[in-house]
Amino acid sequence: MTRVHNFSAGPAALPLEVIKHAQQELTDYKETGRSIMELSHRSAHYEEIDQQAKARLRNLLGLGDKFEIMFLQGGASSQFMMAPYNFLGKDQTADYIDTGRWSAKAIKEAEIFGNVHVPFSSAEGNYDRVPTQDELKFSDNPQYVHFTSNNTVAGTQFPVEPDTNGVPLVCDASSDFLSRPIDVDKYGIIYAGAQKNVGPAGVTVVIIKKDFLAQANTENVPTILQYGTHTGKIFNTPPTFNVYMVNLVLKWIEGKGGLSGFKSFNEKKAKKVYDAIDADDFYRGAVDKESRSLMNVTFRLPSEELEQKFVDEAVKHDLYSLKGHRSVGGIRASIYNACPMESVDTLVDFMNDFRSNNG
Ligand SMILES: *Cc1c(COP(=O)(O)O)cnc(C)c1O
Repeated sequence: MTRVHNFSAGPAALPLEVIKHAQQELTDYKETGRSIMELSHRSAHYEEIDQQAKARLRNLLGLGDKFEIMFLQGGASSQFMMAPYNFLGKDQTADYIDTGRWSAKAIKEAEIFGNVHVPFSSAEGNYDRVPTQDELKFSDNPQYVHFTSNNTVAGTQFPVEPDTNGVPLVCDASSDFLSRPIDVDKYGIIYAGAQKNVGPAGVTVVIIKKDFLAQANTENVPTILQYGTHTGKIFNTPPTFNVYMVNLVLKWIEGKGGLSGFKSFNEKKAKKVYDAIDADDFYRGAVDKESRSLMNVTFRLPSEELEQKFVDEAVKHDLYSLKGHRSVGGIRASIYNACPMESVDTLVDFMNDFRSNNG
């Protein structure tokens, strides 16, 4: 059995080296006679993994000691609730940039806690773009500005962080976390479900600036939902195997040149697919060119019939999970960090052949 070319949006492809490493020590982790899944989260072995993973994140992102890092559960979707629970009081306002389905879900949760102002929305254009800086109409004194750095469903991505004039950014970075360097000083919170770019489903990486955390509301917030509960000593049983996998992925990222290495690798991969799309008008990019994502490349074919045929024939070339999100249709190729160049080259060859045979 060979591995297929996996373009799944999430849970997504993981580096083969990482999976093999995990396989090799699965039944006996470092001569403990047990798997990592069977060891206490208070054991020295697990503590080491937790500390290593945090140190690697600190290094890769350049966080210094200004940030707390936590490995939580409940997915990015729980952060839609947890962030406003901690940082948005009843009479306060937070700004939420609405650039996709996930942004809209975050807005819905925040509205439970306080006032939400939307400085920009591309909902009317089916989320086909992110805003330019001039289009952002922030409120006077928001607690924070929330944005979704990469819009997994539509296939758009902020080329740089929005400029908020010093107001902390709260970012759902689920689908482009660690795909490129970012300016961490602009962020109050960065959160990401692991299953797109950094590991298996089941753990959510949350990074919070200490200054920002100091302003969190703790009154009437259940203990486990307070960010402050998860700094320092591990509060309750974390998803230990998932953190173990994340740590291996982080090590793999380090070995491949870190975030600047991945930035250029991801740009190269995306360019190949977008060039194939732009070669003539058989394929059409689904979003504005300036807003195109390096992670989720979305495009259309001349008809829905041809799109179905494309997906069906792709499988015969070992190209899997290319169907667009059910809410938008079309084709989506998710080419996160772990998607090898070989998969992109195979996809582009297939796109060119398909165009010759059907154009
Ligand atoms: C996948 C995704 C989510 C949802 O993550 P869960 O872990 O399923 O809650 C949220 N935001 C973005 C940008 C995503 O890509």
